[in-house]
Amino acid sequence: MLVTGASRGIGAEIALAAGKKDYLVVVNYTRNQIEAAKVVDQIKSAGGDAVAIQADCSKESEIVRLFKEVDSLGTLDSFIANAGIIGGQNPVTQTTEAQLKELFDINVIGLILCSREAVKRMSTELGGKGGKIVLMSSVAARTGGIAQEIHYASSKAAVDGFCLGLAKEVGLQGIRVNAVRPGLIGTSIHDVHGGIEVITKWGAGVPIGRIGTPKEVAQTVVWLCSDESSYIHGTFIDVSGGR
Ligand code: NAP
Repeated sequence: MLVTGASRGIGAEIALAAGKKDYLVVVNYTRNQIEAAKVVDQIKSAGGDAVAIQADCSKESEIVRLFKEVDSLGTLDSFIANAGIIGGQNPVTQTTEAQLKELFDINVIGLILCSREAVKRMSTELGGKGGKIVLMSSVAARTGGIAQEIHYASSKAAVDGFCLGLAKEVGLQGIRVNAVRPGLIGTSIHDVHGGIEVITKWGAGVPIGRIGTPKEVAQTVVWLCSDESSYIHGTFIDVSGGR
């Protein structure tokens, strides 16, 4: 299983959960080598197997290199397009082209290019053995997101559209495609909002009464890659406490 953005937060928990399920886990990261190495160590200490590979998943050349390195480790069974950023906070009147390009390069273009590389390897029409793709969306895709972050919500809505279309395109090629939409999950992505302490207070406004944990998202992702979800395809699972 390849997990992009697995050095921290939700991606790290997906990698840890997958490590307990006998996958050889590829822990991708872009800057945080030390944190990625810690995730690999934790997986190995628990009896699993993992490798960390640095690659900026907003850049096509690095994405192509990442997947070639994955090829040298074995057959890709599951690909999790998790890497993503919020891309700043501002009203639409202050949105800039540079900001949007940086955001869409990772959240949308990188995600699609990574999925292209995964499909090339998994497609039974292309000699592959099939596989599973899980795309990390957000409840922001259907709610419009938090104030001053509509650029982020727009990028995640693009992920949802891609999920539906890709599922139609590759369903007969042995590949299941789904997306997960987390709600408020306690990770460092919320540092821009004042950190986990601040969003923990926001949790009171979530129907279930609290924020979620990265582990709660990870369990859903790993289930989507298992045979237990064999008829789940081209859809979304909200892990959002009812939000
Ligand atoms: P996070 O704690 O900020 O972690 C982000 C991860 O993405 C890190 O591992 C980071 O690597 C990696 N990353 C960032 N840019 C990258 C790039 N260009 N190439 C490769 N990796 C890159 O974020 P998170 O909260 O776990 O979010 C993970 C995903 O869930 C994102 O797609 C986010 O939009 C989505 N999501 C999160 C929430 C939430 O409440 N947390 C809600 C809805 C959706 P480095 O450590 O090397 O920088």
